[in-house]
Amino acid sequence: MAIRTPAEIAVPLLDLTAQYQPIRTEILDAIARVCDSQRFILGPEVDALERELSGVLECEHAITVSSGTDALLVALMALGVGPGAEVITPTYSFFATAGCVSRLGATPVFVDIDPVTFNVTAAAIAAAMSPRTRAILPVHLYGLSADMDPILELARRHDVPVIEDAAQAIGAACEHGAAGAIGAAGCFSFYPTKNLAAVGDAGMITASEKKRAETLRMLRHHGSRQTYLHERVGWNSRLDEIQAAVLRVKLARLDEFNAARRRVAQRYRQKLKGVQPPAEDARGRHVYHQFTVRSDRRDAVREALARDGIAASIFYPMPLHRQPAYEAASRGTSLPASEAAAKTVLSLPIHPLLDEASVDRICARVEAALP
Ligand SMILES: *Cc1c(COP(=O)(O)O)cnc(C)c1O
Repeated sequence: MAIRTPAEIAVPLLDLTAQYQPIRTEILDAIARVCDSQRFILGPEVDALERELSGVLECEHAITVSSGTDALLVALMALGVGPGAEVITPTYSFFATAGCVSRLGATPVFVDIDPVTFNVTAAAIAAAMSPRTRAILPVHLYGLSADMDPILELARRHDVPVIEDAAQAIGAACEHGAAGAIGAAGCFSFYPTKNLAAVGDAGMITASEKKRAETLRMLRHHGSRQTYLHERVGWNSRLDEIQAAVLRVKLARLDEFNAARRRVAQRYRQKLKGVQPPAEDARGRHVYHQFTVRSDRRDAVREALARDGIAASIFYPMPLHRQPAYEAASRGTSLPASEAAAKTVLSLPIHPLLDEASVDRICARVEAALP
């Protein structure tokens, strides 16, 4: 048998196979349970998952949907975002955050991020408020909650709702409680690479008010509460029973997985030299969806890691206001912290089962790549 040298052992950005193996039987049993029941849409698994999610997030209502994108679409629609409305949102996020605003005929108003936390700030949002502002849409980027206190205060003063994009932050928290359970609605993604991951597309919306929860449920199901009676025009944004059954298996381990991510992050912090580590979260509730460092020599570091079989990624190489889809509308806009982040960030491998030896090796390689 050939002995592989350390240089040949690849370290992926995340290792879905390693995470699957220990729970394989439970997941396959959950899928079989649904297939045996032949009940696939809005059944007992979805009900149970919604109850369990609202328990974990300590929120009144959890409404599952078919993806994080649909969570944003349905939540924005439920809160009255439509043609003519403006929604203030950070330019540094995944495209879906802004794309959903546009798909409803509204306009995303892009604002800059804080260069240390990578999150949007109340000051930036305040400067972008206008009489047409219909919602504020902060993103808890990389698993760190945005600083919600001043954002909520600003929203109250202007009487506009806050919709949280918590797609990367399940389990994170700020002073007010769980990220994604603080504003009028919170949107989560259970895309297979997220901290809570389905075996396909899946998502969820939180709501604190019963009436809003009813609207969200209705909109995810063609605006219908009662069979063949449609009060509004909605979508088919339902989560299916198979995804719900699998998510229940993983939700039971979410805290354990997030704690393991924090341990990996802690090891990185001890060992990394020469690059700027991510902002520390004094509350200890960063869930490290990504471990994102900054360096002026980002590209050289990334290439050195790649030569050693270590995957590192750039989230995101282009702020949204610079994307071709938005460039014409944002011509002349300068959002310097986001533009600088796009040129300097690097997300290093992180997942709950990443071992210390791999972290140490990555850190050594990073250090060696720097002058
Ligand atoms: C993943 C993600 C989404 C979209 O979720 P999908 O489930 O892929 O539709 C939206 N916003 C952010 C910040 C994300 O990371």
